Amino acid sequence: MPNNRFAFFNGEIVPIEQAQVSVMTNALNYGTGCFEGIRGYWVPEEEQLLVFQLRAHMERLHRSCRILFMELPHSVDELCALTLELLRREGFREDVYIRPLVYKSDPAIAVQMNGLKDSFTLFALGFGQYIAGSTVRACVSSWRRIDDNIIPSRAKASGAYINSALAKTEALLNGYDEAIVLGGDGQVSEASAANLFIVRSGTLITPPLTSDVLEGITRQVVAELARDRLGLGLVERPIDRTELYVADEAFFCGTGAEVKPIVEIDRRKVGTGEVGPVAGQLVQLYADVVRGRAAEYRQWCTPVYER
Ligand code: PMP
Repeated sequence: MPNNRFAFFNGEIVPIEQAQVSVMTNALNYGTGCFEGIRGYWVPEEEQLLVFQLRAHMERLHRSCRILFMELPHSVDELCALTLELLRREGFREDVYIRPLVYKSDPAIAVQMNGLKDSFTLFALGFGQYIAGSTVRACVSSWRRIDDNIIPSRAKASGAYINSALAKTEALLNGYDEAIVLGGDGQVSEASAANLFIVRSGTLITPPLTSDVLEGITRQVVAELARDRLGLGLVERPIDRTELYVADEAFFCGTGAEVKPIVEIDRRKVGTGEVGPVAGQLVQLYADVVRGRAAEYRQWCTPVYER
């Protein structure tokens, strides 16, 4: 059960029970919304909650709105301030997940983005692992990733998550932990809600932003950490499905997934079938960075409480 008590709703912080929408809400009927998923990490030695990459997420929310003809009545600065205010009201002393959502709130039977009222809401709840376990077994999904000309793949659009949910459901029902979704061209795109990297002969490889992926913030963080801390170059290029089977290492990354080594794909071991050196180091580095324990990257963490 979610443990949150408040939400920012209709311009103010209200008890969560009051943050309700009508069944006629356009976004509920047609998926006409966009959102973000942000994590906050509790750091016991500082008695502090640190929000990771807060600004980058709010900037992406603005970009999603621009693509989708949605009006977001708050600037990036205001969204960041609102998030901190809500988290302070909640008083969390645990890891949290933060969800800003812009949605077509009009009770209109109208399949269009223009001319309909938009609303903004924000809530946060205590949250642990999104994908259980320290490693995952994945399959290539029979579902294809939404094409940028079908539903904009770089917008974090609510309706697009039907695609993610179908891929994830198939993977789970077939006994896997996560799905790898191919694009319309048959090349690797990403997971249901995470980006994907492979390692081949010491090179980190990930599909380019033109492969219908979400422009992942963790993807960018991982690329920087790999370059600056592990001295690894990144190649952004299309990845064939069968390259997954011969890669030395593979891992997912995302705000929810964090850095998650993949040890098996379509019943083939990835590399040795154990966590490889690159993924292993990135898991640890990422864990340190998000909890503010790497001074160099402290600017990526926004403290919630005044200490
Ligand atoms: N792809 C999809 C489809 C996602 O939902 C997510 C999670 N937001 C990601 C990738 C990873 O993005 P980020 O690192 O910004 O969380």
